[in-house]
Amino acid sequence: MPVTIVTGGSRGIGAATARRLAADGHDIAIGYHHDHDAARHVVTDIRALGRHTVAVPADTTDPDQVNRLFDTAENLGPLTGLVNNAGVTSPIGPFTDLRLDDLRHVIDVNLVGYILCAQQAARRLTHGGAIVNISSAAATLGSPGEYIHYAAVKAATDTLTTGLAKELAPHGIRVNAVAPGVIRTDIHALSGMPDRPDRAAGRIPMGRAGEPDEIAAAVAWLLGPDASYTTGAVVRVAGGL
Ligand code: NAP
Repeated sequence: MPVTIVTGGSRGIGAATARRLAADGHDIAIGYHHDHDAARHVVTDIRALGRHTVAVPADTTDPDQVNRLFDTAENLGPLTGLVNNAGVTSPIGPFTDLRLDDLRHVIDVNLVGYILCAQQAARRLTHGGAIVNISSAAATLGSPGEYIHYAAVKAATDTLTTGLAKELAPHGIRVNAVAPGVIRTDIHALSGMPDRPDRAAGRIPMGRAGEPDEIAAAVAWLLGPDASYTTGAVVRVAGGL
């Protein structure tokens, strides 16, 4: 039985991914930061699908909390996968207005957090498994006028994926990334532009923002047996962006 950790599994892309993987037969450990109610909803939905689950409040920037998340997940059974998803942006704006604490927070959650979780997964997936890192189309677009620092960190996610895929392949661990475009989640409100998905629609070739379920489908494929020869890939799911 697959046992998968989804960080940031309480809301948005992570919540959709947790539900999708549960529907596909995974038992799921959800990591989240502080939204207990949102995490509880996801747990209820997963149990209704007949799967085992646990929700663990764990700040992914803290090595001790990450360790506890992985320890708790292993109570579900031997770990088979990680979805490195917990991420943040910062207030949208010109590069010159970027504040140092926002820069550090974006790097801490989106890069240090991903590395700490990937490190735990690499140590614990002793019988092989798969890691999917949630990157962003921003990694290649650069996000001018919005959040260049975030785009740069997402490019680092792609490099992390390349290196880990090569280093871990001999251990039977596949490592891939999904690069979403503009997806309808709370992240845009948190960056000060709740209507960003609608505003962006005009510059997206498919003419609309994406839905979290459309990202979850790509993650599910990368974690599953149909992707058995796929590692080091960055799968862009961005409506043509
Ligand atoms: P979201 O709706 O804002 O959800 C973020 C999730 O991450 C929540 O579950 C949150 O937990 C958790 N989280 C935040 N900081 C954390 C921390 N320090 N430790 C542990 N968990 C933390 O975001 P989303 O849009 O689904 O984004 C998910 C991923 O997709 C991110 O990596 C993001 O960069 C990437 N992405 C998103 C888009 C988009 O358009 N939405 C596009 C490209 C890439 P709480 O609920 O407890 O706060």
